[in-house]
Amino acid sequence: MKTKILLDENDIPKRWYNIQADLKKQVDPPLNPKTKQPIGPDDLKVIFPMELIKQEVSRDRYIPIPKEIREIYRIWRPSPLYRARRLEKALKTPAHIYYKWEGVSPPGSHKPNSAVAQAYYNMKAGIERIVTETGAGQWGSALAFSTRIFNLKCRIYMVKCSYEQKPYRRILMESWGAEVFPSPTKLTNVGREMLKKDPTTSGSLGISISEAVEDAATHDNTNYALGSVLNYVVLHQTIIGLELKKQFEIIDKYPDIIVGCVGGGSNFSGACFPFVRDKIIGKKPELKIVSVEPLACPTLTKGEYRYDFGDSVGLTPLLKMYTLGHTFIPAAIHAGGLRYHGDSPLLSKLTKDGYMEAVAYYQNEVFEAAMLFARTEGFIVAPEAAHAVKAAIDFARMCKHKNEKKIIVFANSGHGHFDLSAYDAYHNKALQDYKHPKELIEKSITNLPKI
Ligand SMILES: *Cc1c(COP(=O)(O)O)cnc(C)c1O
Repeated sequence: MKTKILLDENDIPKRWYNIQADLKKQVDPPLNPKTKQPIGPDDLKVIFPMELIKQEVSRDRYIPIPKEIREIYRIWRPSPLYRARRLEKALKTPAHIYYKWEGVSPPGSHKPNSAVAQAYYNMKAGIERIVTETGAGQWGSALAFSTRIFNLKCRIYMVKCSYEQKPYRRILMESWGAEVFPSPTKLTNVGREMLKKDPTTSGSLGISISEAVEDAATHDNTNYALGSVLNYVVLHQTIIGLELKKQFEIIDKYPDIIVGCVGGGSNFSGACFPFVRDKIIGKKPELKIVSVEPLACPTLTKGEYRYDFGDSVGLTPLLKMYTLGHTFIPAAIHAGGLRYHGDSPLLSKLTKDGYMEAVAYYQNEVFEAAMLFARTEGFIVAPEAAHAVKAAIDFARMCKHKNEKKIIVFANSGHGHFDLSAYDAYHNKALQDYKHPKELIEKSITNLPKI
């Protein structure tokens, strides 16, 4: 009886899967916020390399993964698929629970799957320096690791309150050689403006994005990198789902329910899109695919499917997606990676069209699930991933109730070793549950751009 289903290094997929090739109807295109016309490659050339822009709009079903990227993936990929037998036993469920574990990468999450690819294509394009923003530091540490590998300089604008409260991921980024600044900084116009208005501001992800984009647009040989939402990020993350499919083939099984947490949608889209394809082409009509989000930031369950800005300042192209409105500021829950007002346009479209569904939870019930997982399976998962754990447990309990032997698999996006203060707060009963912020959402929805 196997606990881990492992692939050989030589089984690392040689191409990513692009779901745009299989959509019955394409996603509405990103729009220029001024002209409201679809944006073209030229609009993006200032901050992204051409190869990534091509991937963003590609309709090819498979896109080759360059050998140089696969060589780096070998450090931690293929990632293991686990059968959570002790969790099943604790739940007394007839269901089988599996999880695909992305906590094995050097930065500890799925994010380097795309960061390595982005660093590589920038290096190939002759770019010498990459800038980005980071909140809690998961994306920043993945990019710091990846730029180091390809000898690129890396600057990270880190939201000031996280910089001050969460030093460990900053130290991780600095250990890989990145420059990390508490944002807003005096290094950009946006930052100086913000500091003039409020010298004691604790910053926000929106401000940090604006600083990073300005930095990239105003420096030669410098590009910007984004860790989720965009089609090419989702594309890179399909390495997870392609491996997962092979792993289920090895044990001659196919999941009934696939679950994953959704912040911008990259890890879960990556894990489930190769399976969503089976649903689109009619091979697996019964397959249930469920996104999990926090009730404090319920984008898919309570948001609207409309055009909105990708950032909170209003600088990016308009994206058609589920959104709570770009001015919505979610409560400070510990799953920082799930505090995003929008979602991947591809995942949004597939949800809108009924191929995927979504559920939302309070953070205390999520940590309770993560504790049961830690005490049965051993791993302390990231607060984001704990949302997927909670949903998987709920489905397993439902199976017990109905005496159904379903196969449940969840995307386990990362470890929680730098989030232990959140676990401490949970142990000390100091975690607050935030209700669905109905009025705040309604207010921010009224700020959506009119198309
Ligand atoms: C960033 C992050 C997420 C949320 O981002 P997605 O793009 O939705 O995957 C989830 N889990 C972990 C561990 C993260 O670092």
